[in-house]
Amino acid sequence: KPFEVHVPAEPLTRFEHELDEQGWNALRTLAQETQARMAGRTFWNISSTARGGGVAEMLPRLIAYARGTGVDARWLVLTGTPEFFHITKRLHHALHGSPGDGSGLGTSEHDCYDEVLRDNAEEILVLVKPGDVVLLHDPQTVGLGPALSSAGAHVAWRCHIGRDTPNAEVERAWEFLAPGLAAARLTVFSRAEYAPPQCAGRSLVIQPSIDIFAVKNQPMAPEVARAILATTGLLRETPDTAAPVFTRADGVTGRVSRGVDVIRLGAGPTAEVPLVVQVSRWDPLKDPAGVLLGFARMLRKAPHVHAELVLAGPAVTSVADDPDAAATLEDVHALWRQQSRFVRQHVHLACLPMADSEENAAIVNALQRHASVVTQKSLQEGFGLTLTEAMWKQRAVVASAVGGLQDQVVTGENGLLIREAGDTEAFAGAVRSLLEDPARAAALGRRARETVRAHFTAPRHLTDLARLIERLDA
Ligand code: UDP
Repeated sequence: KPFEVHVPAEPLTRFEHELDEQGWNALRTLAQETQARMAGRTFWNISSTARGGGVAEMLPRLIAYARGTGVDARWLVLTGTPEFFHITKRLHHALHGSPGDGSGLGTSEHDCYDEVLRDNAEEILVLVKPGDVVLLHDPQTVGLGPALSSAGAHVAWRCHIGRDTPNAEVERAWEFLAPGLAAARLTVFSRAEYAPPQCAGRSLVIQPSIDIFAVKNQPMAPEVARAILATTGLLRETPDTAAPVFTRADGVTGRVSRGVDVIRLGAGPTAEVPLVVQVSRWDPLKDPAGVLLGFARMLRKAPHVHAELVLAGPAVTSVADDPDAAATLEDVHALWRQQSRFVRQHVHLACLPMADSEENAAIVNALQRHASVVTQKSLQEGFGLTLTEAMWKQRAVVASAVGGLQDQVVTGENGLLIREAGDTEAFAGAVRSLLEDPARAAALGRRARETVRAHFTAPRHLTDLARLIERLDA
């Protein structure tokens, strides 16, 4: 059965002091217009998991602010069988062009996909009224389109993933999704390059965003970040037990209570050791293996560079729609075991507890802030919110020039891009150059924050969503 995640309203007025007067007035006017337009109707968002990954990160924040303006925005999460999520994972990889994934999608896969979505649609139709706006997210939900639009809902589909240069796998995925997609009045992509020909004339680009007020992005003093990392066992220090360590969304101060499951050989870094950090789901497309190998290469070439690497991701049993995570983590662990003792002592794999999303966010916040360099060496990347989060925290970032990562970083301006995602040598060189030149790293980081402020925060995103709703009504 699909379930609803209840999101409490958050006031839009928080952004009054983040915007100039003109920007704030425009946002407030648009909010009032949208509220009037949506009176008596609901703005549904349907996705496939309540935690783990960028969509689960973004949706509750946007919904909270939409609710804060008086729009009845709500979030439904569909449920499915392991087989269904196996198929949708294939679809996910196929849309990124991974070899072999599109070709494995035949009639029996289609039957399973349709059956799970039919069951979900039955429950969802009890809630959705004619005239409601439904925004479906990612390939897992496309097949809900026909049932919802026949029931009179205004359906749009938003795809958070894609590939800059479509290949045969991508085309097969689009064929698989075509029947569901036909029912969407509008489609939304993170980059124009991702839209398939069948969406021509009904697609628009909306870039993702972060919420600068979320626990994950809220200001955090360096000693607080250290205290959190010490409590979780990521840093070898005595935790400062006196300080309450983060402010929860409801304003109450929270304290990280859980240890992180860390795979490491030595005692772990102390606060003085510069950290290189990548935070990602355990997915081959995030290339954790490439990060490990690139970092190992840097250590071999420049053993005097004093740094350690943390590859962090969710505890593997915790993300419902990501059945391959455990196998990917195991592959990275196997690769780690093959490294020299020296490398193993400098590389740590960390599985973060996910049970309490705010505690998890505080740990990610602390890790990103404590890092000297944050990487996102993805082989394919829809957008890459982990990069946005790090840039907001003024980190020096190294990312591969794929997908939405290219839309965030101007190399040498606000971070460094690696032209070939698979180029571990260039990656090692970029990371090393930042570790060896902290002044340059700091300058890149300062500009990175301004990039995020200008383009990737909630007011811009809410504006885009309001315009989407307007177009759906047209
Ligand atoms: N994330 C997290 N804990 C983890 C790994 C990832 O909270 O252990 C979050 C991360 O901070 C970011 C999101 O999950 O907000 C990942 O979004 P992104 O767009 O980078 O990639 P996706 O997972 O959607 O492919």
